[in-house]
Amino acid sequence: MNLFTYIKERLSIADVAREYVSFKKAGIYYKGTCPFHQEKDASFTISPHKGIFYCFGCHATGDVISFISQIEGCNQFEAAKLLIEKYSIDIPEQLLQEKKDSTTSLDEKNHYFALCELMAKWCNEQLPQSPQAMAYLTQRNITPATIKHFTIGYFPSGIKAIKQFQRFAHQHDFLIKDLTDARLLMEGKNCHYSSFEERIIFPITDHLGRCCGFGGRVFQKDDDRAKYYNSHENSFFNKGTLLFGLSQAKKAIQQSGKAFLVEGYTDCVIMAQSGYTNTIATLGTACTPQHLKQLSHYADQLYVLFDGDSAGLQAALRLTQLCWDVNISMWVIQLPTNEDPASYLKAGNDLGENIKKAEDIFSFFIRFSTQQFKHQTLKKKMAIVREILNIINAIDDDLKKMILLQEAAFKLGLPLEALTRECHHIHEQSTQKIVKIMVDKSNLHEGEKKLFILLIEKPYLLEREDIIIMSSAFSEPLKTIINKYRSLPQKSFTFLSEVLNDDEMQCAQRLLITHAQEQVNVEQVIREFAKRNWKSIALNTKEKIAEAQKRGDDQEVKILLQYLQELKKKVLNWSVQ
Ligand SMILES: [Zn+2]
Repeated sequence: MNLFTYIKERLSIADVAREYVSFKKAGIYYKGTCPFHQEKDASFTISPHKGIFYCFGCHATGDVISFISQIEGCNQFEAAKLLIEKYSIDIPEQLLQEKKDSTTSLDEKNHYFALCELMAKWCNEQLPQSPQAMAYLTQRNITPATIKHFTIGYFPSGIKAIKQFQRFAHQHDFLIKDLTDARLLMEGKNCHYSSFEERIIFPITDHLGRCCGFGGRVFQKDDDRAKYYNSHENSFFNKGTLLFGLSQAKKAIQQSGKAFLVEGYTDCVIMAQSGYTNTIATLGTACTPQHLKQLSHYADQLYVLFDGDSAGLQAALRLTQLCWDVNISMWVIQLPTNEDPASYLKAGNDLGENIKKAEDIFSFFIRFSTQQFKHQTLKKKMAIVREILNIINAIDDDLKKMILLQEAAFKLGLPLEALTRECHHIHEQSTQKIVKIMVDKSNLHEGEKKLFILLIEKPYLLEREDIIIMSSAFSEPLKTIINKYRSLPQKSFTFLSEVLNDDEMQCAQRLLITHAQEQVNVEQVIREFAKRNWKSIALNTKEKIAEAQKRGDDQEVKILLQYLQELKKKVLNWSVQ
């Protein structure tokens, strides 16, 4: 038994999932709205007996560990660790040892996090010793409590500071090489230096609160370097998935179901300080689908605050393209030109008023893309209309769709019927595409799926002579799964999951939920399968006979021939029935 199996045997997937999804009992299953895609139906299905889930909408599937890894955006080992801690599971020493041996990469990750943690602490301790850095933060209205809450710091400049940082790291068992590997220090001609020197340091944590990188901002008036310097991307620090402030804001976001998205670190900490504790920021990059997906696990409404300049506007417009992929409704809050959330709040404005006036992102998009419509060329006009219709088309809610079509028709000065017709046309084209993909995806035959489920549910059948021959006619990956299952000393689905690869596992989980039947006629399922796959069964048997003949195993040849005759008889009888 491995660590994952041990955890799965001790936790009920329903208990764990209940913290994220609300569901109802439906027969032997639980059903609820899927946390992985936007929907109103209850496609998310849990099989408490098998300890697995499957979504009939987005086809997400897995067990309790992969559920946590998908919803918390971490790897399986981290998910296991979270579950062990959260549910206080006692793990036998031997399993922990095995885990240690197989997870050097996890150790490497923790080592990196510990190093970042250390630098955050050191910079935070340096801050009070720099009157200029303190003066800058005071001037931006950042309070000591906020400094502490976000562990804001300062990286002093000069060789003396670098040496001091190295000594500090050394006291905590880190080497200079660790610092340069993580690119917190760089190798200069004669000595080390850091690109974070003489900057205010904003430690960046992942959603689990582990420090994994830094944003450094210049603050001296005559400093003409780039305004921001961020940690280099590495396997533990990815700007496209990380959100600044998420670990601090997570609870407030979960409680309110709402999040505010801003563009900068300062905006984020000032928002939090002003009571908007559910605020996060991107790391100086555009918002990505991964950002939104992660947010959608905690919030169902996202308020985007962007600067009143055109770059801010473009960033907000781009979001329209992303938001239908996630279960989140988006609102846009536009601030006056030349204001950002920090400056706006500092000037004593009431942001609450702007929040009340927030505009639905689709209306916002239509308003902006139609602004200059009249003066465009025909080609540009067609492109604009298509873009708007594509976006409206992707909306799930029919009423919302209709209202937006009307709004678009009005603003574009085009007849509503024409837009509606075009919208239907786009819709048909896209559904045809989806149906095609779905059909291509699974070429497994129904009878094959049924027999497969039957064998998983009733492993004693696996040893039957006719089943052994028949299961050689399975398509992949069912054939491999069944072979692996047959070779297990202890035949249960939990143990099977230990020997399957990811693709095989997903296929098995999907079939177990989509094709499970409460009552089956065993012989009928076997008969149907044999009838349909008669040709390949016969061919496989003939191949085996040929092999046995080559070996000179007359006894085996005799048995197989006899078996083939019997099977033929059976199949012939079956087909007349
Ligand atoms: Zn789903």
